[in-house]
Amino acid sequence: MAQLTLGPLSVTVTPVAVMKCFVGLQQWVARGSPEALAECRLFRDAFFPYLMGRPDDEPIDWFCACAVSEIRRLERRYGLSLQTVIQFMYRLRNTLESRANQEAALWYALTYDDWLQRFAESPYARLGEHAAQLCLARGIQPFRPALGAAASFGPGLAGTYVPALCAIAVQLDAICGAAHPELNFLETLLHEQVHAAVHAALGDDVGRRELAWLNELAAVLSSQAALLEAAEALGDPALRQEAEACVAWSRSQYAYSDLALACLRDTGAPWLPWLAWQQVFDLPPAEQRNYATCGVITPILSRLGWPIQLPYSYGDRYVTGFVHRV
Ligand SMILES: [Zn+2]
Repeated sequence: MAQLTLGPLSVTVTPVAVMKCFVGLQQWVARGSPEALAECRLFRDAFFPYLMGRPDDEPIDWFCACAVSEIRRLERRYGLSLQTVIQFMYRLRNTLESRANQEAALWYALTYDDWLQRFAESPYARLGEHAAQLCLARGIQPFRPALGAAASFGPGLAGTYVPALCAIAVQLDAICGAAHPELNFLETLLHEQVHAAVHAALGDDVGRRELAWLNELAAVLSSQAALLEAAEALGDPALRQEAEACVAWSRSQYAYSDLALACLRDTGAPWLPWLAWQQVFDLPPAEQRNYATCGVITPILSRLGWPIQLPYSYGDRYVTGFVHRV
């Protein structure tokens, strides 16, 4: 079974893990009447934990059959009958029953088995464990499991956090096709753990407005800082050089790299955006709900040593906050 454990980081690439991602990544925007939303929530809150709780090493066809019968069981148990939910359950059943998906999951797990084994025995494994411990020491937690995903998240993206599964989907084919695959792999895992930690602390609140740029900024800068600091701490010059090259490479890739560089130029403090999130987590509920307003977020950033005004311009782009509270 292809499972890699690096301290608090775990990555599983078995046919079942890949199928969990196929299911969890089904785009699903719950719309409709309050009754439909309530049904959706009932189903989602019961089904996805069930799916994640199934062992990753069981045979793929058995896993799919069990998941399909669980969907049917929940449909009967809760009397689910509204169109939105029925359509969603139908889509999930199709995903699970598709021979093509099952074969893709098998092929994918087989293909990356060797790669993960080699990774586990390489110096990158020690680097990853150390970098993950640094993130944990900074309060980035809980660490969520990562699953191999035979899916595409868009150009230049090799991972995504999947809130429905409380797991990270990592696209190994994109990673192996990029520069510095092993370090890119670690950076991707740590980057998504930051998004996972923000989600774990704030939860879902559809009424809350978000600062996507601050979330990305924390993910980009914290993951890169952890890698660089870990490479430095291990005292291996080759590893340090490669970590620096990987960070330079990924700074030419990410959509928010220019913002990250502007923040570093202004402050020299790569952990600052994450520290800002920690302060947001500690706000009283009403303030936390409005963290995205300039009146809440700019004093936090300012106290931490980044006295910016919003909108904040960098190059020919800018980011901003909200003016009115919700
Ligand atoms: Zn991100």
